[in-house]
Amino acid sequence: MTPNKSVENADSEIETAIPGTCDSGWTACWKQRTLPEKLLLSAISIIFIGFFVAMIVLVEIYLRLEDRLLTAGNKSFVVTDDVIPAGSLIGNLTREPSMCVTLECVEASARILTALDTKADPCDDMAQFACGGWLERQARTPGGKDVVLVLENLQASVDHQLKLMLESPTKPDEIKANDKVRGYFASCMADRQDQVRHASVKKAVDELGIIAAPSEWDPAQWDLTELIGKILNVNGAPLFDLVVQVDDRNTSRYVLSVTLPRQSGIVPQFHSPVPRDLLHHLDILRDKKERHRVKRQFLGMGDVQLDNHDEFPDFAIFESLNHPDPSLELHNPFLPDANFLQSIQQLSRDARASAAFRLMQDLGAFNSFSVASDYRKEESDIRRVISSVDQLLPSDRDRKLKQQSSKILNYYTVDLLQQNFGFINWPVLLRKTLGKNVPMDTTVVVHYPDILHQIQAIVNVTDPRIMHNTLLMLVVRDLALELFKAPPGMDKWSFCIQAVKGGFGEVLSGIYLQYFTPAQLENYRVKAEEMFVALKESVIEMIQQSSWPDSITKVKALSKARNLKPNLVAPSIFSNQTFLESMAAQVNIDGLDFVASTWQMYRLFRRDFFDIYSKPVDETTVTWQMLAYPMIANAFYLQHFNSMVLPLGLLHDPLFSLDTPNYLGLGTLGFIVAHEIMHGFDNSGVEFDEDGVRRNLLSPSSQQLFQQKMKCVSNQFSNAFRTEYSINGTSIVLKVDGELTLNENVADLGAIKAIVATQTRMARERGPAPNLPGLNYTHEQIMLINAAQAYCALITPQAYALILGMDEHAPPHDRVNGFMMNLPDYGRIFNCPAGTRLNPKSKCSVW
Ligand SMILES: [Zn+2]
Repeated sequence: MTPNKSVENADSEIETAIPGTCDSGWTACWKQRTLPEKLLLSAISIIFIGFFVAMIVLVEIYLRLEDRLLTAGNKSFVVTDDVIPAGSLIGNLTREPSMCVTLECVEASARILTALDTKADPCDDMAQFACGGWLERQARTPGGKDVVLVLENLQASVDHQLKLMLESPTKPDEIKANDKVRGYFASCMADRQDQVRHASVKKAVDELGIIAAPSEWDPAQWDLTELIGKILNVNGAPLFDLVVQVDDRNTSRYVLSVTLPRQSGIVPQFHSPVPRDLLHHLDILRDKKERHRVKRQFLGMGDVQLDNHDEFPDFAIFESLNHPDPSLELHNPFLPDANFLQSIQQLSRDARASAAFRLMQDLGAFNSFSVASDYRKEESDIRRVISSVDQLLPSDRDRKLKQQSSKILNYYTVDLLQQNFGFINWPVLLRKTLGKNVPMDTTVVVHYPDILHQIQAIVNVTDPRIMHNTLLMLVVRDLALELFKAPPGMDKWSFCIQAVKGGFGEVLSGIYLQYFTPAQLENYRVKAEEMFVALKESVIEMIQQSSWPDSITKVKALSKARNLKPNLVAPSIFSNQTFLESMAAQVNIDGLDFVASTWQMYRLFRRDFFDIYSKPVDETTVTWQMLAYPMIANAFYLQHFNSMVLPLGLLHDPLFSLDTPNYLGLGTLGFIVAHEIMHGFDNSGVEFDEDGVRRNLLSPSSQQLFQQKMKCVSNQFSNAFRTEYSINGTSIVLKVDGELTLNENVADLGAIKAIVATQTRMARERGPAPNLPGLNYTHEQIMLINAAQAYCALITPQAYALILGMDEHAPPHDRVNGFMMNLPDYGRIFNCPAGTRLNPKSKCSVW
């Protein structure tokens, strides 16, 4: 029996089962019907015929319209300049928005919908409304972290793509540099090489000097300047760092700067709002039961054997979270940046110092101290000097506030430097690092003269032998140790990608770009440029409409906005093979020895870094080699060039898609672009003119009004965002620092206005963009929801406390509600009555 046959049989069985059928002809059958049956059948027939005629008419109309559209050419398809999806013809012609049903649109709809918490009220808490569903899912995900951010996930996915590319074999047509970089990555990833790494650290430190016991010390042979010079040349900065930066007063040249000590070589370049190692320490402390186990594990860092007598920093630090200083209760219920943050950072440094001592003991560096008490005294003397230097470091908050002002620009000459800070022979140090004599009247910027004075005081009262040993131990603690193991809370592969970015950023950029065809890159550039131009136009309109600046200020601000330059996607240097080859030509990668390769890389990095000092400033070099790379998922505003950087790494889902309606991309990537543009007009940005020279845009009277506007923003954020947490059963109120976050908030306030204006203009000029399936919101609403969803973040209370103290951005939840509540159109867009939390009667506005 065939399957068809069985179907036929089944059908006929059904037919015979229907009651009232007749088998003797249609006329006879009709006569057998009752009156109601006849009426019913007539009605059905009329409806059927009517439907048939209507279909013919519709098909005719459709064919005529299609004909008109095709002859009109592509232009009529691109009414909205967005994707014209299948089935959109009739929608466009009737001037109703069409429905975008491409895969990208369906995916975007699903992502937006599943992240929502429709029970939350967008008039009260937009961040919860936009992210509640996402948060709930993240919280249920096993193996949760302290911080999960949408933006950080984007960098992680770019990094993972880089990992796969570095793990794949080098193809025959690739440049040699790619092979070297793959070798370097592999040497970082390789396990069980402790012996090799130990030997390399010993060799690297020995080249700087040996840990000297009193009997081995010859004061006549020692020179602090010489040792500091050697350490600077391997990228160490134990007492201060010497860097090259663009001169604020003349942006066509570089200037030397003496700045703060630096406590790592690779890790700080990692873009993260919260240092993972600090969170790791907080986590350790949170779970008291874990103390002992974690103590053992942590002291094993560097695979050094545990010492029973080793001291572990005081666990009482975490308890300070539970007992905020009552004297601060009135205006600041909890100050995370005060004792708590400093303590947690010191805890991390102390733990690393302990590991450094164990490592150097293991390597036999302290063998000359054969008597245990001698060793203990030596260690405690060195640790005392280390901690007095550590304690001089400003808090992250102070450092960031200073960076935002001109307070770190203290101009000295080499001569003045020598007179003020004679503990170093500066002409000699500069000759050793720059490789040439530097005239005594050369300008040197000192970022923190007070701290440099105090460092000088420490050097002056410290026994030179102890100082010498301290500097070597700082090299081990801050540079060598991190090469043994990824820092706590960071995956090894992610650390290794970071190391490659740090050492071979240019070659890695070339590898990343290989993933895209030239046509794709051009497409990205065109789309990004279109977005940049549209947003820049909106910012220009906003400045024109601002009523507070006087006419001179307005002219200057407008010319700054018009002069703003974009650096989009990636520059052409990263496809120049000769250039890429030259970047790795002098490095020899020992596939087994990550430490030795990194040390070599450090030397070359510092040499190239100091080399540029003698050259005129080249914008492409500074922008794409010193500050950003194409694979960075972040955007930047560069004050010195009045330019913004939008690297390819950011132009990906969920922030950006080439194939979704423009209001989606405006909400996410557009917001970021506008935010960066607005940094040109924040509290620091107004100090730089259209060419990036430090010349204030504001006339004195406008300056006064501008400062009132700044005050509005900083007060509002300090007062509006207080979050109550319960930690270990105690309730703690944490609040946003309006002063620290001021510039970011000002940039956000302008950005959210700019994207609404841009969307309105685009809809007016191009007609309605297509709708997204299943989303019952207006395009403006979807754009703002999408803007909020780019900042969805799951953050534990301890991470929240760290963000408040260290990050110049407000925690994402507060940040989103903060920029929404100041958007003049927010009440209209979400139908929020005036006086609701996110449509307050008094809003802050700057531009
Ligand atoms: Zn910013």
